[in-house]
Amino acid sequence: MTINIILLGPPGAGKGTQARKLVEDRGLVQLSTGDMLRAARSSGTEMGKRVAEVMDRGQLVTDEIVIGLIREKLSEGGNGFIFDGFPRTLAQADALGQLLEETGMVLDAVVEMQVDDEALVRRITGRYTCGNCGEVYHDDTKPTKVAGVCDVCGSTDLRRRADDNEHSLKTRLLEYYKKTSPLIGYYYAKGKLAPVDGLADMDRVSDQIAAVLPLSREIATGT
Ligand code: AMP
Repeated sequence: MTINIILLGPPGAGKGTQARKLVEDRGLVQLSTGDMLRAARSSGTEMGKRVAEVMDRGQLVTDEIVIGLIREKLSEGGNGFIFDGFPRTLAQADALGQLLEETGMVLDAVVEMQVDDEALVRRITGRYTCGNCGEVYHDDTKPTKVAGVCDVCGSTDLRRRADDNEHSLKTRLLEYYKKTSPLIGYYYAKGKLAPVDGLADMDRVSDQIAAVLPLSREIATGT
């Protein structure tokens, strides 16, 4: 059974962490436009150079670019997709709807990860990840057991994102409220919205998401 879901929420809501878990547990393919754009910028392509500056400021990259990235990846298939950080605008949501229709895929649920703003600032300003395996850490709540070494793969390539600072975060939050939060109403109206408490601990959040998934398939097929 394939499952296609969107993880929707402000920066720092835990979308990436939950997406990684769904990849492990259910074999879904994570489509993170943020990761794709970071890969593009580090490859030094023309597109990468153009988006780097926009990303560092905390603004949104153009719809055209991110829709193009998603279109390329949708052909890869698998047990289904987790859209992580996409769509972020109504135009992107419409484009995704069209792409899914063209490829005969169904959107099962849009998981809205609810977190309050103060928690977001705390989460983001202490965040770092392993450049090798992608494990996510936090200075206060989840430091590595040995300083500077990833618990999971032993890599010493621990990185902080250029846009994980208080200044860029302010812009990212504003972009979220202005351009992305209207998607909550959009998907509610489509009967797809599943709010979860993103402040709960990681396993509780996973349980809430797991509870949404089979239910969403029943809704989608009308059984
Ligand atoms: P993320 O890793 O999802 O927090 O994304 C990091 C940055 O990449 C964002 O602040 C945007 O600059 C850009 N970005 C990622 N996804 C999108 C998207 N769907 N639309 C526009 N910009 C995006």
